[in-house]
Amino acid sequence: MKKEVVISVRELTKRFGDFTAVDRISFDVFRGEIFGFLGANGAGKTTAMRMLCGLSFPTSGSGTVAGFDVVRSGEKIKRRIGYMSQKFSLYDDLTVMENIRLFAGIYGLSGADTRTRAAELLSRLDFAPERHSLVGSLPLGWKQKLAFSIATLHRPEIVFLDEPTGGVDPVTRRQFWELIYEAADAGTTVFVTTHYMDEAEYCHRVSVMVDGEIRALGTPSELKRQFAAGSMDEVFRILARNAKRGE
Ligand code: ATP
Repeated sequence: MKKEVVISVRELTKRFGDFTAVDRISFDVFRGEIFGFLGANGAGKTTAMRMLCGLSFPTSGSGTVAGFDVVRSGEKIKRRIGYMSQKFSLYDDLTVMENIRLFAGIYGLSGADTRTRAAELLSRLDFAPERHSLVGSLPLGWKQKLAFSIATLHRPEIVFLDEPTGGVDPVTRRQFWELIYEAADAGTTVFVTTHYMDEAEYCHRVSVMVDGEIRALGTPSELKRQFAAGSMDEVFRILARNAKRGE
């Protein structure tokens, strides 16, 4: 079966003054793929992701996301994607149901669709008993699962996840990844940044960014072979050890 390209960028670049945060990156992502976007702190991942989500204009280069041009059609892209960031997700002072209704409204879902999808979501996550709990009172791992489910409530073609599992243990992260696999199996493309190398191993393909450039791209097994490394952690360390930015 021919793979369908859903994200395609060529020489995409973002400069802030004379500082080049993202330096001529080029890659394709296919429908239903889980694409890991790795890089040390300050490598340029968030800046690149913001350009892909239609939130920031590239300085140069080109790209399409869900068939729309990242330079000219940012607004159309925004309507076709889901976005979950660690910092800006749910409202702690609203209940689970209130958050669901709020975001369903923002995504333009009808009342009937909101009710059906809320019921599906609560049942899939086993959250029905918590429907009237304040989100702020839930454990972090639960909040992350809820945030992911809400970011995909409108069934976007692509979901962008910016370090979605920060601060939780490996078992909780693994449970979160079950949701990612379900979404990918249903045809949603998942574009995910992470610092956790166990998660890099779960991706279909990963790219590794260093100092604004993509220095490696392939499946986890291809990259381990290419760098004669036993794990993605080792691949990452080999690539990042000469980085000028970061810790
Ligand atoms: P982290 O994992 O720490 O979030 P990152 O890979 O997402 O890192 P970015 O946030 O994209 O990195 O930042 C890349 C570089 O661009 C950093 O050196 C950052 O200081 C710089 N940068 C980001 N936004 C701006 C801006 N608005 N003005 C100037 N420099 C910026």
